[in-house]
Amino acid sequence: MKNTHARQPLKSVRNMVQACIQCGTCTGSCPNAFAMDHTPRQLWQMLLNDRPRDAITSKTFILCSSCYYCTLRCPRGLPLTDAMAALTRLAKTENPGGFKKSQAFFHQFLESVRRHGRVNESELMTLFFMEAKDPVLPFAYANLGIKFLRKNKIRLPFVKQKPSRGLDKIFEKVRELETHS
Ligand code: SF4
Ligand code: SF4
Repeated sequence: MKNTHARQPLKSVRNMVQACIQCGTCTGSCPNAFAMDHTPRQLWQMLLNDRPRDAITSKTFILCSSCYYCTLRCPRGLPLTDAMAALTRLAKTENPGGFKKSQAFFHQFLESVRRHGRVNESELMTLFFMEAKDPVLPFAYANLGIKFLRKNKIRLPFVKQKPSRGLDKIFEKVRELETHS
């Protein structure tokens, strides 16, 4: 991490959560916490305990859907959604490789849902590896893939799924809202 550059903006994100009392209400309120590698509360703890590298390389803020629920419920009134957005901006410059991979996963996940109405796991991972353009990345997922295959949790690519019709409109609307926000 380029620390001299990172220090100032990182300090401002830390200031946003300085008054956190670690009550966990943000985590309990977050609809996406189940999929995050660290809960929102843990993310604030990392920042306050001077572990910026852990915070910047976390995938938590990538999964934030800006619903503002944590911000509304935080008993200290902290701007948590803004802190998530600030961390996302920081990660783009401070951890570009990791950020690109997370973005690629997120992008392919949504595209798979748009096409099929649910995730097609094998298609998702194939397209994710192609978009990430990292030849060693598939090896990092090999054990997990074998475990899922054994438990019959992965839909094979040749198993046809019904294409989703209504979802295209929803995706278009979200894109429109994001462009104008
Ligand atoms: S809800 Fe607010 S005070 Fe509680 S852990 Fe989250 S940020 Fe900290
Ligand atoms: S704004 Fe982000 S972190 Fe907060 S509850 Fe919503 S998804 Fe979770």
